Amino acid sequence: MIIGSGPAAWTAAIYAARAELHPLVFEGAGSRTMIPGGQLMFTTEVENYPGFPEGVTGQDMMAAFREQALRFDTRVVTEDVVEVDFSVRPFVLRSSGGQEVAADAVIIATGANARWMGVPNEERLAQTGGGVSACAVCDGALPHFRNQVVAVVGGGDSAMEDALYMTKFASEVLVIHRRDELRASKIMQQRAFENPKLKVLWNKVVTEVLGDDVITGLRLQDTVTGEASEIEAGGLFVAIGHKPNTEFLGGQIALKPNGYIKMPVGWRTMTSVPGVFAAGDVMDDYYRQAVSAAGTGAMAALDAERWLAHGGAEEGQEEGQEAAATA
Ligand code: NAP
Repeated sequence: MIIGSGPAAWTAAIYAARAELHPLVFEGAGSRTMIPGGQLMFTTEVENYPGFPEGVTGQDMMAAFREQALRFDTRVVTEDVVEVDFSVRPFVLRSSGGQEVAADAVIIATGANARWMGVPNEERLAQTGGGVSACAVCDGALPHFRNQVVAVVGGGDSAMEDALYMTKFASEVLVIHRRDELRASKIMQQRAFENPKLKVLWNKVVTEVLGDDVITGLRLQDTVTGEASEIEAGGLFVAIGHKPNTEFLGGQIALKPNGYIKMPVGWRTMTSVPGVFAAGDVMDDYYRQAVSAAGTGAMAALDAERWLAHGGAEEGQEEGQEAAATA
């Protein structure tokens, strides 16, 4: 069983189906902040996925991934998995539609959600390609942002990385941070401060994104004085962190302190529970790319196939059990 419907989940399904494992994919029921297809459904043009020299929209790419999985023997259920029981064999998973499914092996590929600020127009303009994004590497090179004043919200490494990346395209990059000190590593801070195109607006939060079809500016509030102000901006990147989708696991899989699934064995996709594998952004807090997610999806399907082929009883499981013991 595969849980998720982003690049990791569909790639795992393609590999598992071609290995005649008859995978069952729970692609998610969809909500305001996450829909089947995952984070790519919220982005516009994808220009850095190999094999698409002209680029491809996130939606088209996910539709193609899904179609490819369906071409082989993949079954799809448009529901969420809301509860798991990994203490029994086969594993038991319950869905939002009330189904109870038994699975010999499970691949968790539920991804992560970018955190949004939750201010007016932010998510609307992100979904319509109106110049608001949570991923500079994905969207920053689009023509929309060229020679614009671009704002980046956040004070961590992601914000610095996004801001520095955007200095290549924007006329000016304004980092908006809610405190008077950055959280980012010293080296990233130094690079940011040395870049003449980059300026930090300290002690500021965004209270509203301005613009109808495209962003035109931001309404800000000073966190010390409470004073309100407005700035003009032709782009906004929100870099205030990600939240991995692991709540439904109910603590049955070892997680890292930041909530991402812990991978006890390097370059393997097994989790702390033998027979349960993880792929994509739910276990990757570092690269977070569609192509790396797809790669780990393939790895998870191969690991699961191997584990099943040996009845979960050979090297793979021992490795997993050892890892579980030390996790
Ligand atoms: P992060 O370190 O958690 O930083 C999030 C930033 O967003 C913080 O500065 C935080 O402010 C701010 N923030 C959070 N909620 C906010 C809100 N509602 N409104 C305004 N600001 C808000 O997250 P990250 O930058 O994504 O980094 C995650 C991890 O990946 C880190 O361990 C990081 O080192 C790593 N990473 C490394 C690299 C690299 O080495 N090249 C690149 C990217 C990420 P406060 O500071 O006030 O809490």
